[in-house]
Amino acid sequence: MAGKTKKRCVMCGREETPSNHVVQVYDELTICEDCINFIDSQRDAEANLRNKTKKKSEKAGKSIPTPKEIKAFLDQYVIGQDEAKKYLSVAVFNHYKRINQQVADDDVDIEKSNIILVGPTGTGKTLLAKSIARLLDVPFTIVDATVLTEAGYVGEDIESLLTRLLQTCDYDVERAERGIVFIDEIDKIARKSDNPSITRDVSGEGVQQGLLKLLEGSTVLVPPNGGRKHPEQKMIAVNTKNILFICGGAFDGIERKIASRLNTHMVGYGHDEKARKQQRENLMRYVLPQDLKSFGLIPEIIGRLPILTSLDPLDRTALRRILTEPKNAITRQYSKLLELDGKTLEFTEDALDMIVDKAIEYKLGARGLRSIVETVMVDIMYEAPSSEDKTVTVDAAYIASQLDKAHFDLAKN
Ligand code: ADP
Repeated sequence: MAGKTKKRCVMCGREETPSNHVVQVYDELTICEDCINFIDSQRDAEANLRNKTKKKSEKAGKSIPTPKEIKAFLDQYVIGQDEAKKYLSVAVFNHYKRINQQVADDDVDIEKSNIILVGPTGTGKTLLAKSIARLLDVPFTIVDATVLTEAGYVGEDIESLLTRLLQTCDYDVERAERGIVFIDEIDKIARKSDNPSITRDVSGEGVQQGLLKLLEGSTVLVPPNGGRKHPEQKMIAVNTKNILFICGGAFDGIERKIASRLNTHMVGYGHDEKARKQQRENLMRYVLPQDLKSFGLIPEIIGRLPILTSLDPLDRTALRRILTEPKNAITRQYSKLLELDGKTLEFTEDALDMIVDKAIEYKLGARGLRSIVETVMVDIMYEAPSSEDKTVTVDAAYIASQLDKAHFDLAKN
């Protein structure tokens, strides 16, 4: 009796055995388990290779926007501050060009250029740094220099600022090492006098020394959960060589240092307030590294922040533009929110003027624009979704009544 013909693998030609079954994939297409495993392993190996090549080319080929493109992007979010934008755009462009350089193919070592932005509070320093990070899609974190202290003192260890960076990218060390850290209020860790102190200065010089290590570029052991270092905590090694540090500070009073360097006299107290303001605004533009030193930053830190630029105070025109022009302007955000409910939101011109007036009157600057609009909009956001009206118009009278109702005048300082 002729036995049942055994299935044969069309790939290797072998017959089925108890230890190597032949699977009928389709009609005549029969393949043995060994060959299936072989195909699987080939497929995995190829996929791996493809991924690796893709990652490599993404890294190498990820084109960095040109300084002009960076500035044009910043223009969508930040009003004015052209000088600072230009400096930032060039610095960021060079920085990423430098780290994308695969291997040092010549003997020119492009040094890292961290940035320091000097300008009154609420003029867009943080916003600039945030916008850059958004453009480049790199991990970004903001830290307040005032919470940092030297190791061993109450407060956060300096390394903990890298913890936050790691947290923003799910502890992907490689990504964090190409990120951006914005250190706010750097002026608050200035030492109190120009002379190195004899006694230890916990919050000032010591922190600057600690920070120096990070700015210079070194491998730092970072506590994964921040806070104090615990011996039992497993540390993560992070190299800060390619991390871009952008520092910001208001440096209140630095104009006096600038004035004395320029040999001009500040208009004294009691004189015309307007003239003093004007002078302060003009002087800031002349800020130089030596002024930061007179202010109390140690020369080593200043040396590691080679790009120094200043931001202009925001005048009425700038505030008015901030209200409506940026891509994420506060009035646009509310329009969008109501649009989702099928409503149109309109601010009259005099309403926008009044918001600016109030921000100036209450000395709230650009930050105040948001809080005023939020106060004004509460009732509308409450009523509109259940109302029949398709259009909501906000005029000056409405703003005045809403602010009155919310006792906004108490915000005046
Ligand atoms: P700081 O200079 O103190 O870092 P921020 O960048 O945090 O100020 O500004 C606070 C807020 O004010 C921003 O989130 C933004 O809404 C608004 N703002 C400040 N300056 C500008 C500007 N030049 N253009 C657009 N918005 C601005």
